[in-house]
Amino acid sequence: MVIVLEKGIREEDKRRIRTFLEKNSLRVNEIAGDEETIFGAVGKVGIDPREVEILPGVQRVIPISKPYKMASREFKRDNTVVNVRGVKIGGNRVSVIAGPCAVESREQIMESAAKAAESGAVMLRGGAYKPRTSPYAFQGMGEEGVKILREAGDAYGLPVVTEIVSAEHIPAMIDYVDVYQIGARNMQNFELLKKVGALGRPVILKRGLSATIEEWLMAAEYLLASGTEDVILCERGIRTYEKATRNTLDLSAIPILRSLTHLPIIVDPSHAVGVRDKVPPMALAAIAAGADGLIVEMHPCPECALSDGAQSLYPEQFEKMMRDIEVLAPVVGKAVSRRAVPKASQAAPVTGKTTEPSAASGPVTCAYSGGRGAYAEQAIKRYWDDEASAVATANFREVINSVLDGRATYGMLPIENSLAGSVYENYDNLARYEDIEIVGAVTLRIEHSLLACKGASLETVEAVYSHPQGLAQCDEFLSKFPHWRHIETESTSGAAELVSASGDATKAAIASEVNASIYRLESLKSGIETNPRNYTRFVIIARSGEVRCENPNHATVIFSVNNEPGALHSALGLFMKHGLNLTKLESRPIQGEPWRYRFYANVSLPEGVGSSVVSGERIRQALAEMGKIDQDNGVVQGVRILGLYNSKEIL
Ligand code: PEP
Ligand code: MN
Repeated sequence: MVIVLEKGIREEDKRRIRTFLEKNSLRVNEIAGDEETIFGAVGKVGIDPREVEILPGVQRVIPISKPYKMASREFKRDNTVVNVRGVKIGGNRVSVIAGPCAVESREQIMESAAKAAESGAVMLRGGAYKPRTSPYAFQGMGEEGVKILREAGDAYGLPVVTEIVSAEHIPAMIDYVDVYQIGARNMQNFELLKKVGALGRPVILKRGLSATIEEWLMAAEYLLASGTEDVILCERGIRTYEKATRNTLDLSAIPILRSLTHLPIIVDPSHAVGVRDKVPPMALAAIAAGADGLIVEMHPCPECALSDGAQSLYPEQFEKMMRDIEVLAPVVGKAVSRRAVPKASQAAPVTGKTTEPSAASGPVTCAYSGGRGAYAEQAIKRYWDDEASAVATANFREVINSVLDGRATYGMLPIENSLAGSVYENYDNLARYEDIEIVGAVTLRIEHSLLACKGASLETVEAVYSHPQGLAQCDEFLSKFPHWRHIETESTSGAAELVSASGDATKAAIASEVNASIYRLESLKSGIETNPRNYTRFVIIARSGEVRCENPNHATVIFSVNNEPGALHSALGLFMKHGLNLTKLESRPIQGEPWRYRFYANVSLPEGVGSSVVSGERIRQALAEMGKIDQDNGVVQGVRILGLYNSKEIL
């Protein structure tokens, strides 16, 4: 049973409850969350929940009806996110683990790690103790294999996962392994499960060759009951009468497990199908079915592999598959997890205030979408007073990926324009990418100029190029030249670049004035925007937990509400209760849940309150209360704080 304790429970009462449960032969696990503390009590004998409910300090008792307890959804409502040295599995992420079936040599595993990392894997796999069907087949490199696997992982910033076949090997593995894999053949080796669970480390538990979902969850229960909280279930195909594939990949297990358990679920398409060209389609199918990630065999030279060569992908195939997953993930409301480049090789590890780049930590790097002269680039320059180096990328998603993989510490994303409204793509991105947070915001005044090549004049111009927003924002000016053709481009700076490259006096671009010097153009007229009160608000993002904003006066939170009268009203009432300004409320459809919406609320402290050291406290309290309603299964759900930050106006 799950015992939810009262907030602020006295230590004495807590001790009494624990003693009572233990006397009744129950094992007690304490799970302390930010908002509430629970006791998970499991054991052979049943106990009347009412006896526990009346103990002082108990808020409520939830009995568990399944044979597996700690693995069940009833035990833990929220999805477990396993954190392996910063690499997360679970939540809205797709995390891909790749590497050869077996570690064969130093060169082989180094090359595998390089290829895996290059294509976007976040963890490295490789067996050192191989459970082979034949005793004459390659049995693995053993201890030496574990060591070089670790060396390769470290060289490319990838935590490592390897199979454990016997508890005897724990001493040889303990210093090197991040995630222990329990193979299909050992899923019901209960003595091994108990020993591995007791290590308290993350475990990938593969489904047994002919195990039912319930048997599989009972195996997970062994691990959880023995001491680890971090179990990742891995569907790798089961035995059926079908011979065309090595096993039959049971993808229906994913949605079934999702309702039965809180544990993350990954899929191994390699051992399921057994032939490499069938791996990518099944990998994509697994993601579409809701898997939290994949574990895939990839070998620098599959023909030379000592085991499972036929099902190992070529590095190029793996790369292509990763690109396809990148495209598919947003369709199911997820984002591909990125590896953080090891700190030592990063240009700018930054902590402290976002507004004050610290000299000791090197130059600040901030990614943006667009080319030289883009408004986002100006926002970066002005926000950091020319002290930051702006990293140009192709699109918004690349901005986020640059932040996630460490190419840039920060990213600058436009979120709304005062004339044109919200940039929905970025609202959706903020919800989808769970490993980024907002660490600052900046409002930039947008002033457009008409730029053209030297020698051009308003009289020579026949066509004007710009981003659709640029054209729309200058419609009054453009209406004076009805004979000009309007041609849309990807970005305003792209329009300037295009006009410059053409050298043609009949072409002009609407872009920021700074593009004149960048692209050797002349400004025919500046300040041509119809409404001078034209502002774009950008948010500054960083990898979650990397940057702490010391004196926040703004927050962005996302949440959804139950479909019942007054639900949104009660959520927003919390802001009023804590004296906060609700400055923006946006709603977006939740993917896969027709007619349900996710709300984005921006809140700020009213004028004059922002200067005190405890300024963020009110915001934190309101958000904590919101989170509490969520935890208690109230009208507000899915609360996530996208960021607590300072906002700056550059007008
Ligand atoms: C493996 O991952 O190399 C392996 C042996 O897997 P399974 O236990 O699923 O057969
Ligand atoms: Mn294998």
